[in-house]
Order: sequence, then structure tokens, then C-alpha cells
Amino acid sequence: DATMQVDVRVARLGTRFVLLLADDRTEARRLDEVRRDFIANISHELKTPIASVSLLAEALDQAADEPERVRRFADRLAVESTRLGHITSEVIELSRLQARDALRRDELLDVDRIVAAAVDQNRVVAAAKGIEVRLRAKSKAKVYGDEALMVVAVHNLIANALAYSSEGGRVGVGVTVDDDAVEIAVADQGIGIAPEDQDRVFERFYRVDQARSRNTGGSGLGLSIVKHTVQNHGGDVRVWSQPGRGSTFTIRLPLAEPPVSPPEPEDTAA
Ligand code: ADP
Repeated sequence: DATMQVDVRVARLGTRFVLLLADDRTEARRLDEVRRDFIANISHELKTPIASVSLLAEALDQAADEPERVRRFADRLAVESTRLGHITSEVIELSRLQARDALRRDELLDVDRIVAAAVDQNRVVAAAKGIEVRLRAKSKAKVYGDEALMVVAVHNLIANALAYSSEGGRVGVGVTVDDDAVEIAVADQGIGIAPEDQDRVFERFYRVDQARSRNTGGSGLGLSIVKHTVQNHGGDVRVWSQPGRGSTFTIRLPLAEPPVSPPEPEDTAA
């Protein structure tokens, strides 16, 4: 029946994921755990909204004479199917990332432009929450990589900063360069992350507070997409955070070339 077909498809998807993960050396230690958890997680994540959708469809059918209930069920149907779509596209994104060969890493990217684009994508949400997003991106830094994926990575950090901040808060986004790397920092004054959760937030489907996170409509995949994108570009992502005070996520990427500032004229006068 239909549920079984879904089960089979989910299991197949999970298996493919595990195979792709198998060559990821940095994850070697957690691999066994990941193998076991992944299929369970993805099944659960997809089955819950799928079950809701079919229950709601049935309820909708039975409530046909009551417009108020029909409207309510239809609204919830829309929410659940949006959630399903969101999870599905994140799973696809993640699988694309783990199929490293499919990645473009040959474009010369302007980091300031990528960060500005990611900020722009979050303007509407920021405005709705009355959060001011301050952008400082004048690094002129260039990296090699995949533009669309890098925008998604920075976007995810900013979207989280907004989601886990209260109304009227502030979010700062900055780009700085040093000798051989560019650093993108996204800082918020939101709820923060406890020390014991700081490493785990980068794991697939990990959410600190299931109930609260579910309200934000998240899937728990956002930060693992960031981590995989950044690692595939030869960089790393870190978090500094204090519960109740806020968090700063930084992406560090190797520069494609030195910052475009002319060399200092040599001072030959003795
Ligand atoms: P989600 O879709 O749940 O936001 P993510 O992978 O993006 O998934 O993040 C995983 C978890 O890390 C979140 O559920 C949240 O608990 C925590 N988190 C991420 N970013 C922040 C932040 N800026 N402030 C506080 N908590 C955060």
C-alpha cells in the first residue's frame, strides 16, 4: 500500500545517503551512529507530515458541510505540505552536497556580494520581526566555489540568527580578511546555545529544543548544510555562544587570491 511505498522510498534514500557519507573521513568516528540514526530520523521527519496530510484530507472530506472546519483543515494542510516540501528540498540539497563531484568549485566568487545577497533574502523576515540586520562587507575577498551553495550557507546562518532572536533584536553580519582566509561572521543577541549543544547543532536533524524549533518550521538540516558546504570549499564553520546572550557563527574560507590592495611602496629612505 501507499505507506509501504513511502517506507521503501525513504529507506532507499537513506541508504544512498549512508553510502555517500561513507567516504567522509572527518565523520568516521560517528559513522556507525550516523548510519543507524539517519534512516530512523529521515523516516520520522517525512512520515509525520505525510501522516498529517492524509489524516487532514480525510477530515476535510468528512467536514464538507462545515465551511469553518474546512477552512481550518485546509490551512493545516497547507502548513504540513509546506513543511514536507521544505524538508524534501533540504534533504536533496544535502545529498547533492555529499555527492562532491557534482559540485562546482571553479567559479571565482565575490564574498561580499554573496553575503549581501544572503542578507537581502532575509530582509522580509527581519522586518516582520523588527530586527535590524547590520551588514559590513567590504573585504573584496574572492574564493573559488559554487555561488548558489555559498549563498544558501550564509542564508541559513542569517535565517537562524533571526529565528532564534526575539523581536526587536539585532543581527550583525560581517566579512573580514586576514593573510590567507576570509571570515564571514553572523552574530545575534538571541537565545544562545548551551555548551553541550554547540558541537551537536551541526548534526543532521539535531535541534536543541524540539518544541521551540518545530515552531520555527525548521528541519534541523540547516546547519549540516552549512557545514558540508563550507567543508567542501576547504573551510570550516564554528560557533561561539552564551545561553541567554546570543551566538556568533563564523565561516572561514581559504582565499582564492590575496586581497586586492596594492603592495605598500617600499620605504627606501634610510
Ligand atoms: P533548524 O531548522 O531547526 O533551525 P539547524 O540545523 O539550522 O536546524 O539548527 C539546529 C539547531 O541549532 C536549531 O534547532 C537550534 O536549536 C540551534 N540553533 C541554530 N542556530 C541558532 C542560533 N543562531 N541561536 C540559537 N540556537 C540556534
